[in-house]
Amino acid sequence: MKTATQSKHSRGDRNTTISLTEVKVDLNKVLQDAIVVVNQYGYTVDFGPTVKPRLHSVGKDKHCSCKSADCPAVSAVADYLRKGGERAPEPPTGFLVAAPETCPICNSSAYFDPKMSSKYRGAGWGCSKTGTRHYFAWRTELARTDLAANPWRFPPVVVREGMQLNAWDGILENDVVLYPGVLRADLVTEGPIGYLE
Ligand SMILES: [Zn+2]
Ligand SMILES: [Zn+2]
Repeated sequence: MKTATQSKHSRGDRNTTISLTEVKVDLNKVLQDAIVVVNQYGYTVDFGPTVKPRLHSVGKDKHCSCKSADCPAVSAVADYLRKGGERAPEPPTGFLVAAPETCPICNSSAYFDPKMSSKYRGAGWGCSKTGTRHYFAWRTELARTDLAANPWRFPPVVVREGMQLNAWDGILENDVVLYPGVLRADLVTEGPIGYLE
C-alpha cells in the first residue's frame, strides 16, 4: 500500500497540508502494525512506542477516547473486525463505557470523573451545574429501574404468613428463609478485569 500524495508537497505556502500528508504516509504502516484487543465493552488499540498517544480506546459507537474526529484507531478496529477479530460484548443497560456529554438529569454539560467510575455503572461523570449531586441522582434512578425490572436471578424462597412463596420483592423482616436467592448483580463478578473498578 503506497500513497501517491507525496509529490504534491509545495513547501512554503501550505504547511498544514504538508504535515497532514506526512501523517497519512506514516499511517499505513502504523495501521498495519496496530494491535487491537477487546477491553471490557470496547477495544484497545496499541500503535506501538513510536506513536503518541500509543494506546487508544475505541468504543462500539466508533468513537476514540482521544477525541480526535478521525482517529486511525477507529479504522484499525474496523480492519480487525473485518478480519474476523473477536467482538467486544455489549455493555449491560445502565453501564456507561464513556462519560455522557450532557447530564441525564438536567442536560447541563457533563465531564468525565474517574473517581466516580464503578464496576457496575462504568465511566464516572459529573454535572457541570451540580457536580456529583446529579451523578448520584442518576444512579438512584437506575437502581430503582433495576429493582423494578427484577434484580433476582433466583428469588429467595420464604415462608411468609404461613405460605411458602418466591419472594420477588426480597426477604422481609418476619420471613422464614428456606433459600436466600441469588441476585443477578452477584453473577457479574466473573467478567474480564477491566480498567474500571
Ligand atoms: Zn484515538
Ligand atoms: Zn445535572
